[in-house]
Order: sequence, then C-alpha cells, then structure tokens
Amino acid sequence: MHGAIDLGGTKIEAALLDENLVPIRRHRIVTPNLDYDDLLAAIGVQINWLREQSSDGELSIGIGVPGIVNKNTGMTLTSNLPTAGHTFRKDISKIAGYDVPLENDCRCFALSEANGGAGENFNKVFGLIVGTGIGGGICNNGVLTAGLNSLPVEVAHIPLPATIVKKYNLPLNSCGCGRTGCYETLVSGPGFSKLAKHMVGVDISVENIVSRANLGDLDMQRVMAVWIELYAHMLDMIQLMNDPDCIILGGGTSLIDGLIPKLSEAMQKIALKNTLGPELLLAKFGDSSGVRGAAMLPLEKLMKNR
Ligand SMILES: [Zn+2]
Repeated sequence: MHGAIDLGGTKIEAALLDENLVPIRRHRIVTPNLDYDDLLAAIGVQINWLREQSSDGELSIGIGVPGIVNKNTGMTLTSNLPTAGHTFRKDISKIAGYDVPLENDCRCFALSEANGGAGENFNKVFGLIVGTGIGGGICNNGVLTAGLNSLPVEVAHIPLPATIVKKYNLPLNSCGCGRTGCYETLVSGPGFSKLAKHMVGVDISVENIVSRANLGDLDMQRVMAVWIELYAHMLDMIQLMNDPDCIILGGGTSLIDGLIPKLSEAMQKIALKNTLGPELLLAKFGDSSGVRGAAMLPLEKLMKNR
C-alpha cells in the first residue's frame, strides 16, 4: 500500500493507493490556509487517516504541493499557503516520525506519467499541466531532473511571444507572479476566458468557448485559433529549450475535444526546420496523476534527488 497527500490551497486530499498505484480510497479536508500550525495539524490528521487505512499502520507517504520545495532546506514557497519561512518538510516529517518527501505537484504529475503513464515508452518526458495555472516537470528515464532551486518548469512565467501579441493586438495583463504578459495570463484556463473577453467582449467559460466554436460561432472559433497558436508557441519553446521525446498534457484544458491534433498542426507550422517534434499525448491518469506521482516519491530509486 502507498499513501499520498495532495495539498492544495482549498483542500487537502489524502489517497490510499494499492500496490499498482491505483487510488482506492480518498479523504478530503478543508485546507487551513491562514495559520501554519493549523496547516501542520491538518496534515497530521491526513497522515493518521492514511495509517488507519493500512492493516499494520505502515505505509510510505509522499506529498504534492502547489509551489517550490527547496530540496536542501525543505522550505516551501506557495502563494496560497502560510509556509514561507518555515522548514515545512522537516516539520511534517517530525509529525510523521520519518522523512516525508515533498514535491511540486506539476513535477509529481510528470513523475507519474513517465512511470507507467502516457510517457512510459519515452526517455525524456515533459509533463505539462495547463489548468488554473501552468507548470511542468521533466523526467529522464523515469527520474525527475533536479535543478538549483528545485523549480518546476516555470513556462507559465515566460513572456508571451511579441510576434503574436503584435499580430492580434493582445493585452499584456499582470500576472500572479508579479510580472506582466506571462503565458499564464492568456493560455491558462482563466487566461483563455480573458482572451475571449479581450477579443469578443464577453465573459465566458472555457467550456462555452469550445462548445460555441464547435457549433459554428465564428467569434469563438477566432478566439480558439489564437489560443491554440499561443499554446503551440509555448510548446515550441519547450521543445527548443528541452528537446523532450514527448510532452504529456494534463489539467482542465487537456479535456478539450480535439486538442492534440489542433496543437500538432499549429506546432508543425512554426517548427524549426529539420527537427522532429515531440509526440503530444494526453495524460493517462488524468486527475489521479498528482496523487499517483506523490505516492511514488518515497520509492527508493527516486529518493536520490530529494
Ligand atoms: Zn507570471
């Protein structure tokens, strides 16, 4: 049995997974997001719940968090949780009684998809989540790469391409990271809606943009085409910088019908000459990939990087 905790800004989900890393039971509680000690106590509740689920009280636990986890200090920076200045990983490990690995949730997603997931048969796997936010992780031969700051791949906060911004007269909106005109501001789920607002002047959800475009609404088809073009440029940049064998797409926007063929076609138009493009694939484990990857963190061969 394996245990995993998915720590989010609004909920903390504990998941018990069987020997094949399939989630079999889940337990959700609200995240105390104002007080650090309350947050630690809530994680303690979930650790205890997981232990109660296993017959002998013994199971490994890994935790996925939406932020940057410094691999040396265990300090964790995340905009929605009161963890700044605390040695979060050490404090959680104290509660658990053993060293609990903590990792960024996008990197957990990449780890999951590279091992038994859509990226199983590839060497260099890039996992990319495009949902409320955007983030990625890279696995080489099933092992997460570890950098200086233990950053996920922060493609979200790279500036939009000037050529496309100029071509469609796109807005340079302020981003949650404190900068302006980042990819996340127009390519994330909320960014897609903002793009529609800018181009057509209506407040509309991603689901409705897509369904109206599919029904022949020309305005929404235009919005969709610009979003795909921006998204393809983001993928192209990932290719130019990382040259992965495949890019696995996850997050809410990955559910859009026909996304892969649209992105592949748009990528081919802008690809560097004489290069092979990475295979674009949808996540195999969908929403469960985060907890699946977190559950894999304590596995021995992966521990060396954390
Ligand atoms: Zn940003």
